[in-house]
Amino acid sequence: MRPEILFPLFAEPTKLDGVGPKTAPLYEKLGIAKVVDALFLPPSGVIDRRLRETVQGAVEGTVVTVRVTVGRHSAPGRRGAPYRITVSDGILDFTLVFFHAHPEYLVRILPQGEERIVSGKIEIYDGVAQMPHPDMVIDPDDGETPDGFEPIYPATAGLNQKAIVKAIRSAVTMVPDLPEWQDAAWLSKQGWPAWRDAVRALHSPESATDIEADTPARQRLAYDELLSHQLALALVRAKRRRSKGRITKGDGSLRKKVEAALPFSLTGAQKRAAEEIHGNMAESKRMLRLLQGDVGAGKTLVAFLAMLNAVEVGGQAALMAPTEILARQHLAGLESLCEIAGINIVLLTGRNKGAERETILSGIANGETSVVVGTHALFQSDVIFKDLRLAVVDEQHRFGVNQRNELAEKGAGADILVMSATPIPRTLALASYGDMDISVLDEKPPGRKPIETRMVSLARYEQVVESLRSAIAKGARAYWICPLVEESDIIDLAAAEDRARALRRALGEDVVALTHGKLKPAEKDAAMASFKAGECQVIVATTVVEVGVDVPEASIMVIEHAERFGLAQLHQLRGRVGRGSGESSCVLLYQGPLGESARARLAVLRETEDGFRIAEEDLKLRGAGDLLGIKQAGLPQMRLADLAVHTDLLEVARDDARLIVSQDAELKTARGEALRVLLYLMGRDDSIRYLGAA
Ligand code: ADP
Ligand code: MG
Repeated sequence: MRPEILFPLFAEPTKLDGVGPKTAPLYEKLGIAKVVDALFLPPSGVIDRRLRETVQGAVEGTVVTVRVTVGRHSAPGRRGAPYRITVSDGILDFTLVFFHAHPEYLVRILPQGEERIVSGKIEIYDGVAQMPHPDMVIDPDDGETPDGFEPIYPATAGLNQKAIVKAIRSAVTMVPDLPEWQDAAWLSKQGWPAWRDAVRALHSPESATDIEADTPARQRLAYDELLSHQLALALVRAKRRRSKGRITKGDGSLRKKVEAALPFSLTGAQKRAAEEIHGNMAESKRMLRLLQGDVGAGKTLVAFLAMLNAVEVGGQAALMAPTEILARQHLAGLESLCEIAGINIVLLTGRNKGAERETILSGIANGETSVVVGTHALFQSDVIFKDLRLAVVDEQHRFGVNQRNELAEKGAGADILVMSATPIPRTLALASYGDMDISVLDEKPPGRKPIETRMVSLARYEQVVESLRSAIAKGARAYWICPLVEESDIIDLAAAEDRARALRRALGEDVVALTHGKLKPAEKDAAMASFKAGECQVIVATTVVEVGVDVPEASIMVIEHAERFGLAQLHQLRGRVGRGSGESSCVLLYQGPLGESARARLAVLRETEDGFRIAEEDLKLRGAGDLLGIKQAGLPQMRLADLAVHTDLLEVARDDARLIVSQDAELKTARGEALRVLLYLMGRDDSIRYLGAA
């Protein structure tokens, strides 16, 4: 249960100054559903309202605050003209300008001959400085002079800055003094303030640089956020590791047989990953490991060796893929290897019905079948394994922490290996997979031919189609990707349909297939299958094109409006070709003129095929929040931590969290109690139920 000390922070936003039932929904749009959310909304800018001597020398368009003597009022001479008041700051005369003014009101707040402090944006009009609609008019005799600096928050329609500032300021006054959850030595080494002071500092910037991500206050708050997240993951991980696992330590006989039959030897990275995995399986704790590697890095083979390890001790292994077509592809890849090993493999999907399904299930139940490949149908309750020791999940970035938990609960006692083809920088992998151990295949099998990558303007569409025509005549197969135009599926679909129609006209009716997100899974599979079988030579796809589908004969990838894709996604798409023995190419069709960042993205792609390097560049170019591949990888949304800036802190947070859990798994020490408050404060109530003795 949430500790009482936090209750005020979890009240409705109507408890904030100036927020009523009408405006509360607008605050929710800003992400403020509870008082506490207001604390964690960082200012996006800062206005300098320090009192200046004079308007003279001010940069046009900036906010200026000066003390003035009010001069003459001039009412508009014609309709639509503004009401003007001449004022003087002692050095310069300038004009306050009001459209649609109420003269009585202006006469009252700006009486001629009196002193006032005014603050607002300075503009130059006809060579004369003017301040249209000052933000503030203060009588120095009874008003407060403005703070030196004022935070600016991201706005939403219907809420003005003044209201947001007021609401957030009131949230800050409700902040209780909470027990310190950070390690005292670490805090003082970093020179970070206490939490309450940090919150106050965040919302009272004292200079323009005070809102940057590297101030002590901001770093502290970012670290709190990262630590709470990593702690939640570490608790999940610890809970899972407490659940009894099995010792699986095969004699290597099957693995030796298969390795000897391979026409190549394992890469160094594959050997390393295999050792890590087999080491984990030999422990009595349950394994939860991520096997990360670029498309084609050889993950499947590593996973298969782990499966053989399970089979060597008389156990079974399952491989789960996100779609039926991917499951079939895995089956096709593994069948011959299973034959070499002399073990049985079977495919189980939602399509197996009746007697056929019964036969498959009985083979799994009596242990005749050693390896089962399938879709999520594998985890239906009637699927009973004789002795499941290893579950491999081909993730294709579709599962989050919650689904992983579910899976872990279903495959009682079995070790779990998750394969992911999203190359994300190591630190970001920590953020999304902090609950897992990680093996990385950062080395590609030798002998891969580079993919020739070209940038071509859409203006040269006809030429691209011409060269496609001659390639097809020689038997080539090509993907043609149409982008996500808008959030709207309908527009995407129209664009893809138009393109398919145009290509059919140019290349022939039967040559071109079309697949997109609106099709039923079976229809999508059918389109892909006809392309895979070579019944058609071009497949037009929106980005639904199955990232893991392997068509080694495909050697051309055309990406239309490449400038609209993120780097990670372009890399994934390009990875669809270059899998066969021939030359392959990727055409980045762009719509000019290219913006600077789009140009930089495409240039990176042309330069390298190294997924990890591309991911790092993408991170630099776009910041963590925007990384498409990373969103897919289930990266948590952070409010104060910026994963592109605070990467070092992320690593520390992970180590810190694991240490805490290993020493105080029930969070019972004084620091542990304080950390519970942190978890609740950060809305990680869920993770509390994973507390438990080591
Ligand atoms: P991933 O699952 O990482 O996308 P795969 O395991 O499907 O990669 O491997 C891609 C291809 O590379 C397969 O045809 C596989 O047989 C081959 N391969 C795997 N490991 C090696 C290696 N060490 N040397 C050469 N080829 C390899
Ligand atoms: Mg694969």
